Amino acid sequence: MGMVATAEFIAGLPKAELHLHIEGTLSVEMKRRFAVRNKLSLGDASFASLQVPEGSGDQALDIQQYKMFLALYFEGLKVMQTDQDFYELALEYFRQCRTNNIVYAEVSFDPQAHTDRGVPFGAVIEGLGAAQKIAREALGIESQLIMCINRDLTLESAVNMLEAACPYRDKIAGLGLDNVEDGHPPNKFQTVYDAARDQGYRLTAHCDVDMVNAREHIRQCIHDIKVERIDHGINVLDDHSLVGAATERNIHFTACPTWRKGDPKPRRVDRIERMRGLGLSVSLNSDDPGYFASGYMNHMLNAVAATGRWDNSVVADYVKEAFAGAWIDDERRAVYIRRVDDYVAASDTQCAT
Ligand SMILES: [Zn+2]
Repeated sequence: MGMVATAEFIAGLPKAELHLHIEGTLSVEMKRRFAVRNKLSLGDASFASLQVPEGSGDQALDIQQYKMFLALYFEGLKVMQTDQDFYELALEYFRQCRTNNIVYAEVSFDPQAHTDRGVPFGAVIEGLGAAQKIAREALGIESQLIMCINRDLTLESAVNMLEAACPYRDKIAGLGLDNVEDGHPPNKFQTVYDAARDQGYRLTAHCDVDMVNAREHIRQCIHDIKVERIDHGINVLDDHSLVGAATERNIHFTACPTWRKGDPKPRRVDRIERMRGLGLSVSLNSDDPGYFASGYMNHMLNAVAATGRWDNSVVADYVKEAFAGAWIDDERRAVYIRRVDDYVAASDTQCAT
């Protein structure tokens, strides 16, 4: 391996992001703006308390903190009420894409977090869609939407979500599964996944890292609800038969080597390297950049490259894997991958002279 990839090289790489929660980009500034506009009085605690705590290394404690984080996360979303709010939120993310040279993004959103508060499904879609249009036409960024089931709500609620999405079928590419995993296995939503597959949705699901029953949840994702991708899914490493099944079915893993306030460096870089070493398809993503110290893509990639001592070619390999896992046709995929290859070739030439 050569020198660690430079910030300049990483900045110029054309990138894809596949695991990004649009609600996870909500900044304190936007929260205040939306609260004022929607005439909501939120206590200062709502703004200040959402700091992701330092990892303790203790599974039970980490899961407890993760549940607290998610509870606050959903509490903070209440400031978002109109299509204008969703439009501004998504447009701000697409501006970040421009800054980070992300040319293709698959953006997850949590419909139930909004519809359960009385926000119409259509307002969420209209707002996000208007921002996607500007991103495409003015910023040169292509994007698609993934709606995620809130797994700690009931099956019936998820069924209702899929039904509410019906009029917007052509505006949503895929179905995902997120929120508190403990006690809410993927199989709980088998019927929703089966119905979504019949309707032509692409399928993914979160298997968060080091959760209780992590291996069993990954098994269910691969063999029962039959996803095409797994969000996180790093515990696939714990069972070689799952590695075999994931490789055979070409399942893509959207890893997020993020870090929190107080974490000294990106988490899980060594395990991500092992996944690649076993031939699994893995991309690097920012997850909830508004809440993690890792922030947006370039900042995260620089720290990950430094941690793993990755040179240009290794970073480029992960970026190409993101395009490999993207829900686009093969012709577009080839165009994106060629852009990365051309960029790498041009960078190599510069070094040689
Ligand atoms: Zn996520």
